[in-house]
Amino acid sequence: MSWEKNVRTVVPYVPGEQPKELNVIKLNTNENPYPPSPKAVAAIQEIDPREYTKYPDPEALLLRKALAAYHGLKTEQVFVGVGSDDVLSMAFLTFFNSKKPILFPDITYSFYDVWADLYRIPYELCPLRDDFSIDPNDYMRENGGIVIANPNAPTGRMEDLSMIEGIVKANPDSVVIVDEAYVDFGGTSALPLIERYENLLVVQTFSKSRAMAGMRIGMAFGSEKLIQYLNDVKFSFNSYTMNAPTLHAGAASIEDDAYFKEQCAKVIATRERTKKALSALGFTFADSKTNFIFATHRSVPAAEIFAALREQGIYVRYFKKPRIDNYLRISIGTDEEMDTVLAFLKTYLAGR
Ligand SMILES: *Cc1c(COP(=O)(O)O)cnc(C)c1O
Repeated sequence: MSWEKNVRTVVPYVPGEQPKELNVIKLNTNENPYPPSPKAVAAIQEIDPREYTKYPDPEALLLRKALAAYHGLKTEQVFVGVGSDDVLSMAFLTFFNSKKPILFPDITYSFYDVWADLYRIPYELCPLRDDFSIDPNDYMRENGGIVIANPNAPTGRMEDLSMIEGIVKANPDSVVIVDEAYVDFGGTSALPLIERYENLLVVQTFSKSRAMAGMRIGMAFGSEKLIQYLNDVKFSFNSYTMNAPTLHAGAASIEDDAYFKEQCAKVIATRERTKKALSALGFTFADSKTNFIFATHRSVPAAEIFAALREQGIYVRYFKKPRIDNYLRISIGTDEEMDTVLAFLKTYLAGR
């Protein structure tokens, strides 16, 4: 059919499985094992029904103001969207608009190349070193933009802020996006640098550390200029990306900082304990500053462990991709969930 040659064809991003059964241990999409702040849940229940009738605030001020106050920024330095996927996609569309290739690591969040293809943005992959570290020299050449997840996914590895700053500083002619989806689990944020570098956009999310993946809230912090450009594109696309209940729940979550810090500390403690247990079982991994561990076993292939776990109703993530096809990405669940996984692995590996 001739109309088909005019279709914008893309190979879509493949999200982790969302199994229908409830009695599984779900460690495959880095969700938080704990509930969100009770104040966020209450905020949705207490909403005035008239807010459902009217369009939501297109400026999303309730949430942007809460985020600005929390980080000591101006509201004009904050952008919000429907998860950081929405924010990142909008940022690609806004800032990566040159003929020069954008740069990102060969092993990273697998949505970056999908957006680049969708928007016809040329890109070049910068191979991570064997220990999954970034070689900053890869980013010291002409480019149309840079995107770096820090800590990185799916590796879990964090780069020093000084390296990130070096890359931002060396590229005043490009926008550098730092995707900090996991920064709350012990990472160092590049956020303070936005006051010094007009070309730095820091993207974060409520999906992991704030246990609100189902609400879809993401945000970007940057210079007023960057945020203005993002808003211009957003308002040319869809004025009402954020719905009213979500704005209330997001603001309430930000205000409940004690709960947030406590939940993050719990995940971090479980992660550190899980690292020790996995090492004892013969796994190796880059040191994780996230809510997952990206591990390979010294003798048993990852694909086989993945299948065995799956049979037990334990879902982890396995990427059949070059360089990482012998690794499993295991999200940090509750202590009880991790104990079940570790106990199974111990028996399974002993029988191999
Ligand atoms: C999970 C994740 C995102 C997207 O999360 P949202 O749920 O869309 O906010 C973005 N980047 C990385 C690296 C992630 O792991």
